[in-house]
Amino acid sequence: MVNWFVMESVAQAQPETPAILLTPRRPRPARPFGLYDLTLPELEGRLRGKGLPAYRARQIWGWLYRQLAADYAAMTTLPDALRADLAAELPISTLETVRVLSADNGETLKTLFRTGDGELVETVLMLYPDRATVCVSCQVGCAVGCAFCATGLGGLTRNLSAGEMVAQVVGAARQARERGRVLTNIVMMGMGEPFHNYAATMKMVATLHDPAGMNLGARRITISTSGVAPKIDALAEEPWQVNLAVSLHAPNDALRDGLVPINRRYPVETLMAACRRYVERTGRRVSFEYALMAGINDAEATARDLAALLRGELCHVNVIPLNPVDVLPYERPDAAAIQRFAEILRGAGIPTTVRYSRGLEIDAACGQLRAKAERLAEAAPPTVTG
Ligand code: SF4
Repeated sequence: MVNWFVMESVAQAQPETPAILLTPRRPRPARPFGLYDLTLPELEGRLRGKGLPAYRARQIWGWLYRQLAADYAAMTTLPDALRADLAAELPISTLETVRVLSADNGETLKTLFRTGDGELVETVLMLYPDRATVCVSCQVGCAVGCAFCATGLGGLTRNLSAGEMVAQVVGAARQARERGRVLTNIVMMGMGEPFHNYAATMKMVATLHDPAGMNLGARRITISTSGVAPKIDALAEEPWQVNLAVSLHAPNDALRDGLVPINRRYPVETLMAACRRYVERTGRRVSFEYALMAGINDAEATARDLAALLRGELCHVNVIPLNPVDVLPYERPDAAAIQRFAEILRGAGIPTTVRYSRGLEIDAACGQLRAKAERLAEAAPPTVTG
């Protein structure tokens, strides 16, 4: 019997080091690997290797992404022996739910997961009258280090696998279903920079888009970047018609360098040029996200600079009053300043929406729940609530 888990561990092993260079060090834990890490063709290939027909893979796929089965035992159209075999070889998900917090009268659910190697990641489900959106994390931590963001505080630990991202989406789909709703949208705006984990992010899109499974339209998936310009060009070449959101937060290098450090590598002019090529290539508009911070980037002159930068672009601006992070010195502007900023953009002909973040009382801004859980864990381990 082929052990898939061991196969993946071996595939990720480090190259051998000459004995003379060997120094004692902690063994790197194997990257957790589960059924959600496989695309349908990969699952078909694995089953074929066991002498099983391809239709078994489609059956499993239906259980995973249509029935949202969390357990092999629920896959009652499969022979008992195959279910037992699969359960012994490969977990469905490698994420364990640590805690679920609810806000906004139950319309916002924030889930803290523990990965198979003990890391913490967050996912937020937001229920609106016309849609149900999940905000997915793509990394443990983040290397970008935006000045106002809890996730960036500790740097990057590791990329999440496609399966770990898919598991977050399926978990949110189950939460939505328990409330009589259907998950309709995915935004890659949780912890991490999706373009620093590009291949796994695209694999996640392929898995969720597959018509034999969840069949989520690519237009319902939004990938957000802090401004990794070369990957904007790469995304323009993908077959998926996903939406692109760029976290701009400032209209010029002087301000953006301090807020979004990746701007020193891909300055505003380089970023905007990539966005223009993206629009030319795809015909799709770009969303610019603008986290509004009191006294930092909310001045009327800054709004006018932003309007000048975006004039004539096929775009939409989401002004997002900041969710303050308790350990960072940035504040949300007052309501009048928020409206004034948005009105200046609208007055200049830039389509603009003010979007308030959900779940202020549950630390819903990206990375906040994880950061708090890690601080608490120094005193006591987090409670497992299932
Ligand atoms: S805002 Fe996004 S890109 Fe910036 S540090 Fe946080 S997770 Fe990373």
